[in-house]
Amino acid sequence: MAKLYYESDADASLIRGRKVAIVGYGSQGHAHALNLAESGVDVRVALRDGSSSRAKAEEAGLKVMQVPDAAAEADVVMLLLPDTEQAAVYERDIAPHLNDGDALMFAHGFNIRFGQIVPAPGIDVAMVAPKGPGHLVRRTYVEGGGVPSLVAVSQDASGKAHDLALSYAHGIGATRAGVLDTTFAEETETDLFGEQAVLCGGLTALAQAGFDTLVEAGYQPESAYFECLHELKLIVDLMYEQGISGMRFSISDTAEYGDLTRGPRVIDNHVRATMRQILEDIRSGAFADEWIAENRAGRPVFNELRRKGAEHPVEKVGAELRAMMPFVGAKQRLQDVSGG
Ligand code: NAD
Ligand code: MG
Repeated sequence: MAKLYYESDADASLIRGRKVAIVGYGSQGHAHALNLAESGVDVRVALRDGSSSRAKAEEAGLKVMQVPDAAAEADVVMLLLPDTEQAAVYERDIAPHLNDGDALMFAHGFNIRFGQIVPAPGIDVAMVAPKGPGHLVRRTYVEGGGVPSLVAVSQDASGKAHDLALSYAHGIGATRAGVLDTTFAEETETDLFGEQAVLCGGLTALAQAGFDTLVEAGYQPESAYFECLHELKLIVDLMYEQGISGMRFSISDTAEYGDLTRGPRVIDNHVRATMRQILEDIRSGAFADEWIAENRAGRPVFNELRRKGAEHPVEKVGAELRAMMPFVGAKQRLQDVSGG
C-alpha cells in the first residue's frame, strides 16, 4: 500500500506562518481561500480588475487584491485560474513578484508537466490537488470532513516544499480524508487519461452509441434514454459503493452473464489499443500541444463539437424526461460535476 498522510502527519503551523495568495475565486479558489482562512491562515484572494467574483469574496470576509500586488505581498501563491489562462497570468503578473524562498502551488500539474510555466530555480513548486470539485472541498470542510488529495513537489528549493504542501493540505481539510504522494507527471497524465478514455470521453461516447443503436433499430427514444443513460447512475453508484463484484451481486444472473460475455466484445482489443494510443498522445505532449493551439486559435473545434454534442437527440429526450423527475436534481449536480 502507498503511504497516506492524515491529520497528525502534517505540521499545521507551517502554512499559518506564511502569507498565502489564492489566485482565482472559482470552483477551487473559493474553497481553498475560505477553508484556509477558517484554519487560521493569512489569506488574500487575487483577482483581475472588474472580476465578478470580487463582491462574493469580499462578502465572505476575505481580503481581495490585484494579482501583482497579492503576488508581491504573499510568499505562497496558489494558482487556481483555468489551466488555459495560467501561463499568461503567471508571466505577466506573478513571476516578476516572486522571490527566492517563495512557493508556487498548483491544483493540477498541466502547466508544469508540459513546460508552459517554468518557475525560477529558487522557488518551491508544489501541488495540492483535491480529487473532487471545489464545492465539495468547501462543503465537506464545513461538515468537519475533507476531500482526499494528492501532493507533489516538482522543485524543492527550500528542502521543505513537501512539508509545506502537506501543511496546506491540512489547512483545506484534505488530511482528514487522506493525502497521497504523487508526481506532477503522474497526476497530469492519469487525470487527462481518465477524463478522456473513461470518465468523460469514454462514458459519453458509450452512452450515445448505445442510445443511437436502439433508436436506429426502431425502439422509442424514451426507452433508449432510460436504458443507456438514466440507469448508468444506478449501476455506477453500486460500483462506487461495492466495487464491480458488488455491483454484479445486485444485478440479475441474466444481466451478469450478458455483462461478462458481451462487455469484452464492446471494449475489445481494438478499443484497448486506442486507449494506449490516447495515453501515448498525452505522454508525448501531442494532446497538450493540440489543446494549447486550439485555445490560441479561439477554440473553433471545441466550440463546434460542443454545439454538436448539445444537439444530439439523447439531449432533447433526456431534458423532457428529467423535467418530469424533479427529484433528479439537475441544478445541484451541474454545479458539483464541473472540472477536475
Ligand atoms: P474555475 O474556472 O472554476 O475558476 C477560475 C477562476 O479564475 C474564476 O474565478 C475566474 O473568474 C478566474 N479567472 C479566469 N481567467 C482569469 C484571468 N485571466 N485573470 C484572473 N482571474 C481569472 O477554475 P477551477 O475549476 O477552480 O480550476 C482551477 C484549478 O484547479 C485548475 O488548475 C484545475 O485543473 C484545478 N482543479 C479543478 C478541479 C475542479 O473540480 N474544478 C478539481 C481539481 C483541480
Ligand atoms: Mg480529474
